[in-house]
Amino acid sequence: HVGPSSDTTLVLSGGSYLDVRAGVLRPNGAIVVRGGRIVAVHAPGSTWQPATDARVLALDGRTILPGLIDAHVHLTLAGDPIANAAATLRAGFTTVVDLGSAAAGGARLREAIARGQVPGPRIVAAGSWIGSKGGVCEFGGATVATAAAARARAQADLGAGADLLKVCVTGWAADAAAFPDSVELKPDLLNGVLETGRAAGRPVFAHAIGQAGALLAADGGIRALAHTPIVDSAGAHRLRARRTYVISTLVTLTAGPAGDRVRRSFRLLHEAGVPIVLGTDAGVLPHGRNAQELVALVEAGLSPLEALRAATLNAARLLDEGGVVAGGVGEIVEGAAGDFVVVLGDPLRDVRVLERPVLVVKAGRVVG
Ligand SMILES: [Zn+2]
Repeated sequence: HVGPSSDTTLVLSGGSYLDVRAGVLRPNGAIVVRGGRIVAVHAPGSTWQPATDARVLALDGRTILPGLIDAHVHLTLAGDPIANAAATLRAGFTTVVDLGSAAAGGARLREAIARGQVPGPRIVAAGSWIGSKGGVCEFGGATVATAAAARARAQADLGAGADLLKVCVTGWAADAAAFPDSVELKPDLLNGVLETGRAAGRPVFAHAIGQAGALLAADGGIRALAHTPIVDSAGAHRLRARRTYVISTLVTLTAGPAGDRVRRSFRLLHEAGVPIVLGTDAGVLPHGRNAQELVALVEAGLSPLEALRAATLNAARLLDEGGVVAGGVGEIVEGAAGDFVVVLGDPLRDVRVLERPVLVVKAGRVVG
């Protein structure tokens, strides 16, 4: 039986769980999951008893967290997509945004996982990258030269099953640091994609690392930046005012020559109150090492709780506001998805405990 959600009742008994909204570990009585969703959270000492046919996992001494979310991966670009998806799920990441694939690969993998044909995280899929000829998107992406072509490409991606659109507005970090005013995608082409997304009720995410491109994208109504942009303090405050989300990708982005600029900019964004969402650009980083980004977020100045919120509440809010994930993910409350990652140790003291999950549950089914 490999269906996407289990019919049996699963009970996570004992241990403690992370109330990510309150920011505290709470002693756990029993978390009850049925039909893929959390149906009850009982405190210790509750008189509630599981039905005789329920599967009970005794988790004394363990810490239960909501399944984590990575808002920037590429599962189908290189290697075996099925192995990539399985590694991601085993790492405790039960929801991902596949932020660019060729030939609707992300949407097809999403469907295979949703049907229970292969194990993997819940996928929110972008289509191709849409950018200009000679720009960063030319690698495997779709290039357009006119606003009409940009609209047609975006429409084709949505028609092929994309949940959201991805545009490429500037180059990589070294270029973005050296040429902050450089913009690859002309405003009318960017607007063509944004208009198409708006008309379809679908969000647009942007690869825009340089300041001018990041602000152009934010002013145009982009929902999230796919990487930490290199901005000054005024730029950071403008992103905050626009309610633009920033997907971190610190591990991969700070490995390059402009790493210090990225780190400095990240601090400004955090200080300005820009909502930070965890993303790795996995595919660049090996799949299944997504929790390394939690460590990078803490090294960059976030508290462990803030880093965990970037991978849960903040990411869930981004997807919820974008209308691309139906139902709650990212927290342990009645009605939310039955997705969990279980660890040894206290993640509020040391997020590295997430690098070695002892148990992963997706939609009420033990998957790793
Ligand atoms: Zn990427």
